[in-house]
Amino acid sequence: MPDPNADPELLKIISEVQMHSRNPSKSCRKGNCKCRFGYPKAPMDKTIITCPDDGEDDNDNDKKPATSKSGGKGKKSKPKQRRLRQIQKDAMAKLKPIWTFLSESKNPPMTLSELLEKFKMTYQEFRVNVENLTTGNVIVMKRRPIHCWVNGFNVHLLRVWNANMDIQFVLDEYCCIAYMLLYMSKPEHEMTQTLNQVFGEVRKKDVNEKDEMKQIMQAYSKHRELSAQESVAQTCSLPLKKCSRSVVFVQTDENALKMSLPMSKLKEMAPDTEQVWMSDLPEKYADRPEELETMSLAQFASEYRILYGRQTEDPNAIPLLNERGFIQKRTGGKTAIIRFPRFSEQKDPEKFHSRLL
Ligand SMILES: [Zn+2]
Repeated sequence: MPDPNADPELLKIISEVQMHSRNPSKSCRKGNCKCRFGYPKAPMDKTIITCPDDGEDDNDNDKKPATSKSGGKGKKSKPKQRRLRQIQKDAMAKLKPIWTFLSESKNPPMTLSELLEKFKMTYQEFRVNVENLTTGNVIVMKRRPIHCWVNGFNVHLLRVWNANMDIQFVLDEYCCIAYMLLYMSKPEHEMTQTLNQVFGEVRKKDVNEKDEMKQIMQAYSKHRELSAQESVAQTCSLPLKKCSRSVVFVQTDENALKMSLPMSKLKEMAPDTEQVWMSDLPEKYADRPEELETMSLAQFASEYRILYGRQTEDPNAIPLLNERGFIQKRTGGKTAIIRFPRFSEQKDPEKFHSRLL
């Protein structure tokens, strides 16, 4: 903390944005612990990297330095984890009186040694217990007892940023990746819970599949979390994606998914007809005009697009044979990228060779 006389501006910023609330808020509580962010933070006479002692010199690779993936919150063997957790519990119990005091006292002693004297604990004892509070290598910042509610900051950044910051030194790249992935997939995780709940409720209601699907869809669109960027794009009707090339999926499998014709068409048809499916790309290819006779399916898919609805009235529309619809050469000489499935020669020999064909 800066000297109030030398740097009142910085002191003001810190006290406004970098202080953790003494009254545990909702977001602090998680399970039994009062504050999952670890406040009040441990006072320390100098900045240290903890190295919790699990009391055993095992030779599994857990003794590597902090840069290995076994440091921090990385994966550890189960017995080791259990030992560490027990040690952590013991350390917590030993430090509890001090932590309770720090949580309640408005005016704690200025120095760590004064604080420890009050609780008749030696520095060595305190240091070991603080290290054992962590289950991996963690940085404990130099901190006076009076500053145990201040979150770490960078002086220069805080001055220009003038808002709360939560900066931690990365000791463990495994931890860092896990942390980022957790944030990225957090909304999806909450979505799973919401959808599971809706599933359960819909099942109880005994509705048909169509309504069931509808309710799930509604729940999905209502509860989906949007990023700020996406919501702005949606509000301004900006396209969410843009491609300089279109991409066409070509099915190569005779039993690929098919769409049925629309209900209005089906009703007009004779009841015993088998032509109830929309024609797919390979079928349209089979009915290509004579001038494209020597063209491959891949080339057909890439160079021509299928026209729908009013597009078919375009003067450049090329009719397919047997009333299979219309196609048009892609404009600007921009051929489409084609995608197709892959099959294993051993597991799906039929599909494998059909794809080669
Ligand atoms: Zn808290």
